[in-house]
Amino acid sequence: MTTSPFDLSNKTAMVTGCNTGLGQAIAIGLAQAGCDVVGVNRSEPTQTAEQITQLGRRFIDVRADLSGGNDVIAQLLQESLSQVRTIDILVNNAGIIRRDNAIDFTEQDWDDVIDVNLKSAFFLSQALAKHFIAENIAGKIIHIASMLSFQGGIRVPSYTASKSGLAGLTKAMANEWAAHNINVNAIAPGYMATNNTEALRQDEQRNAEILNRIPAGRWGSPADVAGPCVFLASSAADYVNGTTLAVDGGWLAR
Ligand code: NAP
Repeated sequence: MTTSPFDLSNKTAMVTGCNTGLGQAIAIGLAQAGCDVVGVNRSEPTQTAEQITQLGRRFIDVRADLSGGNDVIAQLLQESLSQVRTIDILVNNAGIIRRDNAIDFTEQDWDDVIDVNLKSAFFLSQALAKHFIAENIAGKIIHIASMLSFQGGIRVPSYTASKSGLAGLTKAMANEWAAHNINVNAIAPGYMATNNTEALRQDEQRNAEILNRIPAGRWGSPADVAGPCVFLASSAADYVNGTTLAVDGGWLAR
């Protein structure tokens, strides 16, 4: 019997920010494909842990505030590797957004977003790439980018900078690490119904503007990103390097 190229049995994935939203759906999707999951969260991931355990997979609960810099990353990796032998897949999902006009934007709102969305994704990827190389693992790194990896957005300058930065880093890391059998790619979700977009969905005018532009005619659901993530985490994507895959109901095609 041949194994499906999408099968992730015997793999372990680290997913950041998986207590809710897209991260939760990604963690569950990876577990459905056979993975054990190391969840890196600052809040308790009760539901995610329950659902993954029900699937017969292990869920390892690691707590960290990813705005804390390299010491936090070193600590969370050490804690993870004391509970699992290796990690094969990293999904940099944790992210925040701050809304204000560029003309009024504060240094705090700049730093807060860049630290979590871009800096922690860079240094966590670096730490995992060292692990992959040391253990001779054909690792997979998947960044969760955004439509604002391609577009400017409205009133979210630090978010746009972080997500455009992630698309660039996806290519830069892929260029360097493909030779080590590490695939680095990103998923750019379109407009997905999560906490992150609650304010937009409550704003009647913006909600209508957004829906009118999506060819699929609906907000995405968190589960919509799980399949593409399983693909990029699997050996089916062994020859996919440095790409940012839009999962957007056609938003960018307009
Ligand atoms: P969400 O529901 O707000 O979830 C964000 C996750 O990141 C939560 O688990 C959150 O933990 C975690 N997080 C935030 N700051 C953290 C920190 N300092 N340390 C550790 N974890 C932290 O948002 P989402 O919509 O699922 O977004 C997930 C990712 O997709 C983000 O990178 C976002 O930019 C991206 N994205 C979302 C959309 C969309 O339409 N929803 C579109 C494009 C891209 P807490 O619960 O503890 O805050």
